[in-house]
Amino acid sequence: QKFSDLPLIEPLQKAVAESGYTTPTPIQIQSIPHLLEGRDLLGCAQTGTGKTAAFALPILQNLYKNHRRPEPKHPRALILSPTRELTIQIYDSFKTYGKHLRLKYSVVFGGVSQGPQTKELAAGVDVLIATPGRLLDLINQKYVSLNKLEIFVLDEADRMLDMGFLPDIRKVVNMLPKQRQNLFFSATMPKDIQKLADSLLTDPVKVEV
Ligand code: AMP
Repeated sequence: QKFSDLPLIEPLQKAVAESGYTTPTPIQIQSIPHLLEGRDLLGCAQTGTGKTAAFALPILQNLYKNHRRPEPKHPRALILSPTRELTIQIYDSFKTYGKHLRLKYSVVFGGVSQGPQTKELAAGVDVLIATPGRLLDLINQKYVSLNKLEIFVLDEADRMLDMGFLPDIRKVVNMLPKQRQNLFFSATMPKDIQKLADSLLTDPVKVEV
């Protein structure tokens, strides 16, 4: 199968080609068509499988096709990730795959000053990639609101739980609008992860690679 067999719009096909990708990976083939239809997804996948493009490409397309200007402080899509390094990688992927779309991407994580982060958020962003602690700090100070969120992604859920982020994740989830698309990724699926996934997802497509 080729990327051109996937129902991705031209600006995304172009960005993929410019990245030098010729064939989609198994998780991309199995996820992208369902995510474009707005389905929830439970993905059992490690990094290195092409997981980031598997969710970034359809998210970009869904936001673009259903275009509206993001309101200040109200991201349209949120990707929660456990570490600064991972959030930056995901942010770079969105910028790369979305370079021919006029959407705005922003990344927030702890350990650095808030100023530049809050400035971007105030201007309005389509996609926000965040670590849970800094996100909650910004929400508590009213620099971010999740009540207009359309798409929620929990990445590396097992690592998040190992790092003690479960209470933070629950707080974030409780702020989300009922009507939304959910994506959940974990390298392993022990019982507590499965339980969290069940509480978050509605009739998900399941993909294991
Ligand atoms: P990830 O699993 O998202 O961390 O991606 C692992 C690496 O594979 C990244 O460096 C991507 O740039 C690369 N990649 C993702 N999709 C493809 C593809 N279809 N063909 C070749 N490389 C890819």
